[in-house]
Amino acid sequence: MSSFTVAALEAVADRIIQHKELLTSLDAAIGDADHGINMARGFEAVRVKIRAAAPETDISGLLKMTGMTLISTVGGASGPLYGTAFMRAAAAAQGKETLDQEAIAQIWSAALQGIKDRGKASRGEKTMLDAMEPAYEAFVEAAKAEKSLVESLEVACEAAKEGIEFTKTIIATKGRASYLGERSLGHQDPGATSSYLMLAALTEFFHNQQLGA
Ligand code: ADP
Ligand code: MG
Repeated sequence: MSSFTVAALEAVADRIIQHKELLTSLDAAIGDADHGINMARGFEAVRVKIRAAAPETDISGLLKMTGMTLISTVGGASGPLYGTAFMRAAAAAQGKETLDQEAIAQIWSAALQGIKDRGKASRGEKTMLDAMEPAYEAFVEAAKAEKSLVESLEVACEAAKEGIEFTKTIIATKGRASYLGERSLGHQDPGATSSYLMLAALTEFFHNQQLGA
């Protein structure tokens, strides 16, 4: 299970690193042009850490390693937010040996709550929550409707994508973009975009696993 989790986290890290420029250019429009730089730096460090992890490190241990690394390397608002998300995810993953649908729902719920607790934001404030929360809800709904794990992740991805579109239509009231007020309208939130990218990477990873790739 350890190598599976390492591979899943690597897929997430790779996706963020590949989209460094996109995330930075989105942040240039409504922030300080560092979101991609921050996130890529963090996930480069995560990639090194998890590859070097002892083979017996469990899911929770790997998530904790990811969270701690993000907190110490990302900086900006997103560092503590994503860091907290992974730390809470690690706590929720304790004792879990497989990443099945139920486990993922519990881990995701804890991560989401971590972001809310740390950032004191709620949906509709033009943040990462506008992608992450509807995606989580869509995942839970899909699971309830007995869709498979991959199908549920795909539905969640679609919801996250809609969430990104939604951020273009609203004014930022949290984070650096809130300084712009109405001028933040029309722009897509960088954090919502990085959340979507992580989810898309994870979805593709599980999809490929299913195909035996
Ligand atoms: P900074 O704004 O400090 O430069 P980043 O550029 O790395 O940090 O991250 C910006 C992103 O962080 C925003 O696009 C937004 O999605 C997210 N964000 C900012 N503040 C909050 C908050 N209070 N709660 C949730 N997400 C937030
Ligand atoms: Mg920034």
